[in-house]
Amino acid sequence: MPRVSLRRAAKRWHRMYREARMVALALKAPAHPVLAHVVVTRRCNLACTYCNEFDDVSQPVRTAELLQRIDRLAALGTTVITLTGGEPLLHPELEDVIRRIRHHGLIAILVTNGYLLTPDRIRRLNRAGLDRMQISVDNVRPDDVSKKSLKVLDPKLCWLAQFAEFEVSIHSVVGACTEHPEDALQIARRATELGLTSTAGIVHDNSGRLRPLNAEQQKVIEEIESLSKTFLSFARLNPWRKNLARGLPNDWHCPAGGRHLYICEDGLVHYCMAQRGYPAIPLSRYTREDIERESKTLKPCAPYCTIFCVHRVALFDRLRENPRQTLEQLFPIRDADGAAPPRPVSIRVLRALFLPSPAALSGRFFRKTALWFLKIN
Ligand code: SF4
Ligand code: SF4
Repeated sequence: MPRVSLRRAAKRWHRMYREARMVALALKAPAHPVLAHVVVTRRCNLACTYCNEFDDVSQPVRTAELLQRIDRLAALGTTVITLTGGEPLLHPELEDVIRRIRHHGLIAILVTNGYLLTPDRIRRLNRAGLDRMQISVDNVRPDDVSKKSLKVLDPKLCWLAQFAEFEVSIHSVVGACTEHPEDALQIARRATELGLTSTAGIVHDNSGRLRPLNAEQQKVIEEIESLSKTFLSFARLNPWRKNLARGLPNDWHCPAGGRHLYICEDGLVHYCMAQRGYPAIPLSRYTREDIERESKTLKPCAPYCTIFCVHRVALFDRLRENPRQTLEQLFPIRDADGAAPPRPVSIRVLRALFLPSPAALSGRFFRKTALWFLKIN
């Protein structure tokens, strides 16, 4: 086996262990942020017409400030940090920031458009300890809306397949602004062919409204999700996605501002990229009281929210507060037609970990052993 494959396999097991620990911590304790997005520069080398998260003039956030923000997030108990932009690879000392995240034992994720990737940059990201990279690919051929196309990015994906020791996830979108839903499927199949993982999102129209997906778009989303086989794959477990695909609202509580934080280039905490301006408190002064208050605050945008990473965090809380009912309600043994869909391994493990029958000694033993193994008291 080539050396890069061995290192990749070893890192994958270590990452899975740390991710399992992150999930167990999120299920056990309600008082820490599970996930934080940190903007490292607002500048981008592209100009997708649907995006308002970038400019072409900003300087990168100073590395010393970013390191302080990472330290502050670690002190608040954050378990996963996603570096975002603009285009994060434009930051000349990005690897130092990743190193600091890993120094604190947190999971480091990078969202990029992939344009600036080279074999050398991939190796630097390996050495810094990056855990995951997410690349959004919008279409098969570049058009006036987006240049993030498979045609342009395919060589970069091949380099990632060859050199990356971190997990690479290719994200494609289906919805109001996408003219060719079949593009998303072609992108996902290419990712799978290269040994990368694929996910799919649902996008709003230009006015921010979520329109129901048509039958073809729904089928594309389902096919993409069926390609994703990872143990902790949340894409296949998002219980609120079905309603959104039909244009229907969801009844869920958004814990943003508490369990999910978005740190803008100025170091202010916001709910998420779609809700900048709330609560807009400097991270340096953000406290556990702020986390607790904002976790409980009702968000009027929740019913039609398509920010899947915050759904995931909310699902952890719901499972912790009412595990039996949540598992039965959101992942029923039998669906509406009476069929018994296969339950994902992760849901079966969660059941064994957190729903041991009071009479079952083996269940309690498994739970104790698992928490000991994950170093959670
Ligand atoms: S690449 Fe990303 S940050 Fe840059 S303009 Fe497109 S969507 Fe926005
Ligand atoms: S509901 Fe969605 S859009 Fe609204 S604050 Fe929460 S994550 Fe952001």
